[in-house]
Amino acid sequence: MCDICGRGSCCESFHSLEEQQRYEKVIEAFDRARELRQQVRDEIDEEAREIEAAERRVEHEAEMRADAFGD
Ligand SMILES: [Zn+2]
Repeated sequence: MCDICGRGSCCESFHSLEEQQRYEKVIEAFDRARELRQQVRDEIDEEAREIEAAERRVEHEAEMRADAFGD
């Protein structure tokens, strides 16, 4: 998506150099926003992995207990 006009079929380089310069702060802000969004996504992925690992651990422990009581 174009950070200058917001159209998906456009990109910053389609605009004049003057426009690119005038929108510099906007482009920077969008860059920063994308970076932050990626960070949040990474955090969520990491949390999901941790939750999954914890769930597997609990399942494993339950199986171990079941085995211990099994015989
Ligand atoms: Zn554009």
